[in-house]
Amino acid sequence: MGNRTVIILKITEKKVVSITYSLTANDQHIETVDASHPMLFLHGNSGLPEKFEDNLVGLSKGDDFHFTLLPSDAFGTREEEDIVDLPIENFYSEDGKLDSEFLAVGKIIPLTDEQNNHHKAIILEINESEKFIKLDFNHPLADKTLHFTGKIIEVREATKEELDHGHAHGLGGHNH
Ligand SMILES: [Zn+2]
Repeated sequence: MGNRTVIILKITEKKVVSITYSLTANDQHIETVDASHPMLFLHGNSGLPEKFEDNLVGLSKGDDFHFTLLPSDAFGTREEEDIVDLPIENFYSEDGKLDSEFLAVGKIIPLTDEQNNHHKAIILEINESEKFIKLDFNHPLADKTLHFTGKIIEVREATKEELDHGHAHGLGGHNH
């Protein structure tokens, strides 16, 4: 029997990484991603804060992690100017009515601006008499100090196709 070399991949940019984690923000539990639905992402392209990815560099399969991100390294600070009133007509459907299932206080809605950038906003107020909808474009985790605790489930090389697409394929990743 010959010698076998086991290569343990460490996380670096462009590796495909699968993790489980639990997130708290200002000591409040936000979410848990467990082993039944791990998060899969292409390192350097996760869509999560850069500092989040930085904290995983050098870790390998089976490693645990615990780290804290300050708001400045995570989702920034809340800005009053990101709370805006938009004309209610913008939200009418073709029959000139509001879709009350889609539009309700507390709901998060996707919006596209004139430059075709996608945004998410939470509805703070629907004022039908004064004909505006008040939206908060601040990230729900703005102003929060985030604490992640989790485990590296898998680290692998990205396929050429994944590198071309800029995202990971497979369970928990991009599916198309
Ligand atoms: Zn793809």
